[in-house]
Amino acid sequence: MSTDRIFDNTEIAFSLKNDSELERAYFLFKMISIQPLVRIGTAATNFAIKANLPIEGLIRSTVFDHFCGGVNEEDCLPVIDKMYLKGVSSVLDYSVEGKESEKEFDSATNTILKIIDFAKDIDAIPIAVFKPTGFGRLDLYEKIGSREALTKKEQEEWANVVNRFDVVCKKAKDNDVAVLIDAEESWMQGAADELVTKMMQKYNTEKPIVYNTLQMYRHDRLTFLENEHQKAKKGNYFLGYKLVRGAYMEKENDRADEKGYKSPICINKEATDENFDKALLYMIENLDCMSLFAGTHNENSSYLLMQLMASNNLKNNDSRIWFGQLYGMSDHISFNLADKGYNVAKYIPFGPVKDVMPYLIRRAEENTSVAGQTGRELSLLTKEKKRRKTL
Ligand SMILES: Cc1cc2nc3c(=O)[nH]c(=O)nc-3n(C[C@H](O)[C@H](O)[C@H](O)COP(=O)(O)OP(=O)(O)OC[C@H]3O[C@@H](n4cnc5c(N)ncnc54)[C@H](O)[C@@H]3O)c2cc1C
Repeated sequence: MSTDRIFDNTEIAFSLKNDSELERAYFLFKMISIQPLVRIGTAATNFAIKANLPIEGLIRSTVFDHFCGGVNEEDCLPVIDKMYLKGVSSVLDYSVEGKESEKEFDSATNTILKIIDFAKDIDAIPIAVFKPTGFGRLDLYEKIGSREALTKKEQEEWANVVNRFDVVCKKAKDNDVAVLIDAEESWMQGAADELVTKMMQKYNTEKPIVYNTLQMYRHDRLTFLENEHQKAKKGNYFLGYKLVRGAYMEKENDRADEKGYKSPICINKEATDENFDKALLYMIENLDCMSLFAGTHNENSSYLLMQLMASNNLKNNDSRIWFGQLYGMSDHISFNLADKGYNVAKYIPFGPVKDVMPYLIRRAEENTSVAGQTGRELSLLTKEKKRRKTL
């Protein structure tokens, strides 16, 4: 099977966008490509939100509508239906961040439970997702990870976190909806990893339902994967992993510098790429007891995974392998993969506009700072605009 440059097909990539949507996407990526504009825009938006200035309408009609499905799950349905017509599934991503109270953690848990309920009847939503810090305070994860003694109140808080994980993973298993658990900062991830492993031991007894996330920009993750594999073989349960490169690189490096420890991040981009691709290979070679969700916008890694599947005689739609991209980005990868029958899902973030701002700012910064990413989006959009003009 040939995997020749299928991502170059812009007709398939943008088949869901009419001409004016294509123009809007072009305009947006053009703006995002201007670094000073993103810096000033981010600061001005943060200020305006804090000052309660009426800018939600402006955010909605620009970045929000491009990168998010809506303010609640029902809002996202038209997008979900439209994408599914082209074979692309959805992962509803409740993207509210930075909450700190027990009430807010309970409310996030209820939202995820509702999404699983929603997903069990909709083929277009095969997978759910949540963030560990949506269910508990980052500082608490950090304290657990560093084995510090907890106060009585913190012990109660942690018991609530464990319970929130358990209720969600159980519901996922009962309804046969896989659940991805995002990875975050390394200083909280140790506690989250231990908890997710417990969930896998409990709920992945017949097949992978609970998936942890491995950030392959961390130089220790391949060894972690190998160790978890040995544990799973002994314990007789399945592993599920979402592989990503990692979204908190600057924060990680800055903290390591500030506190004087060795950064957990690979020495350069090439080392991260190599690490990511090695993990792909490792997982493909061990599919008898693991499933893989490759969350990436990197064309080379996506082509590599396609080649690995072909050379291992796996069907394009093998149920143990998913490709994933974020809504509003890399449609050329998502829609061309789906066109060839691969399992593809896009994260569709949703939530009240001001609460999803940290997510949107990460996307704007990522598209500004990641060399080539915005340029690639712009050149694909330009190519498609030209193609349509010649029709
Ligand atoms: C579906 C999906 C789910 C995701 N879930 C998570 C998640 O749970 N947790 C999370 O942290 N991120 C998550 N991400 C974001 C992801 O980690 C990346 O930030 C993003 O996808 C860009 O990486 P890439 O593989 O698409 O490719 P590329 O654009 O090729 O790679 C960019 C990435 O390479 C790494 N990198 C860049 N420069 C260097 C350098 N100098 N040294 C070392 N490494 C470098 C960084 O991780 C950077 O983000 C998710 C992404 C997707 C698509």
